[in-house]
Amino acid sequence: MKKTLSMLLAVVMMAALVLTSCGGGNEKIFLATGSETGTYYSFGIALGQVMKDKIGQEFGVQSTGASKANIQLVAAGDVDMAIVQNDVMDYAFNGTNTFAEEGALSGFSAVATLYAEVVQIVAKPGITSVADLKGKTVSVGDAGSGTEFNAAQIFEAYGMTFDDINKQSLGFTDSADKFKDGQLDAFFVTAGAPTTCITDLATSNDFVILSIGETEMQYLKDNYGYYTEYTLAAGTYGEKQPEDATTVAVKATLIAADDLSEDAVYKVTKGIFENIDAIKATHAKGEELSADNGVQGVSIPFHAGAEKYFKEIGKLN
Ligand code: GLU
Repeated sequence: MKKTLSMLLAVVMMAALVLTSCGGGNEKIFLATGSETGTYYSFGIALGQVMKDKIGQEFGVQSTGASKANIQLVAAGDVDMAIVQNDVMDYAFNGTNTFAEEGALSGFSAVATLYAEVVQIVAKPGITSVADLKGKTVSVGDAGSGTEFNAAQIFEAYGMTFDDINKQSLGFTDSADKFKDGQLDAFFVTAGAPTTCITDLATSNDFVILSIGETEMQYLKDNYGYYTEYTLAAGTYGEKQPEDATTVAVKATLIAADDLSEDAVYKVTKGIFENIDAIKATHAKGEELSADNGVQGVSIPFHAGAEKYFKEIGKLN
């Protein structure tokens, strides 16, 4: 009985999906985010709520494997918009870094950068440096994430590779769970801070957030232009994190499928930047939103609708 009911429900939901995506007017926009314990997801939900309230635009927010997976989803036409790291967006567009093998992806363009994403290396107490991770069991993020790119580049700065660790490719929720159980010595999280999975962890476990050394910081800045130095303030995760951590950050960026209409993207872009206060009231990361920041850190073409809005308000020429 239960099975029949849930199958029926699935059919009804599928039908609803088909109907909404074929309906005229303000079509629902499908937005790819990340893990439910990351920041993209909760920010996406907040954004969707505000857009619905303020401009009557419905969003379907999906949990995914994050940046790389999201770009593949947009490029394949499976979703309309996504939140991705600006570094990964550039590599995908230009077919560089780990996209060198599969080649450049197309069919997506930039809407705006949203907030800083902090590379947070969470480790067992007693581990004091990335160099100490040699031979340890470390999760470097989901296979489709941007986190994995950052982890690889940070190890490179230390003259190490994934071969030096017992590498695990786990999403944020699994990483935090396995760390709680003592099955991981460390895990990487690139996300807006505070990040839910680390905030949760702080309620049960002790941990440290590793700082990146001066030489390694310089290496990262010299070789990978997207990194900016970022101080994760003491107390971001309460008493469990009594010291500042010096690390790097990239930017969370909203992208859209090229074939999403200029009108739809214009309305959403305008909707976001004219409703910053409402977004701020719904999600802490709204604090970092501004039209001035939104056009920074974008190395690929803007979507025509976003460009129209930013030109109109004098933020792009
Ligand atoms: N920046 C992360 C990634 O692409 C995801 C962050 C999040 O889910 O908030 O790996």
